[in-house]
Amino acid sequence: MKPSKVKYIRWAYTGVMLLFLLILYIIDKSGYYKLVLPMTFGIGITAVVMAMIELAFWRCTYCGAYLGRAFNPQYCHKCGRELE
Ligand SMILES: [Zn+2]
Repeated sequence: MKPSKVKYIRWAYTGVMLLFLLILYIIDKSGYYKLVLPMTFGIGITAVVMAMIELAFWRCTYCGAYLGRAFNPQYCHKCGRELE
């Protein structure tokens, strides 16, 4: 998987997290607390999956360096080549 694909997955992940926050807000306002535990579980699983995808694929395609926390890097910080 190329870093450019991981970028899209990161955007989708951010969207899912915002959706979770919105649902938790609605649960808080409606008082339907039965959903809090499954929601927390869902947030945890999503975060673990995202961390695994990042560790495996958020890397330079040339030297394999981890690209770090930067959201939209254009160049590898280690070898300096342009990222795909
Ligand atoms: Zn590199």
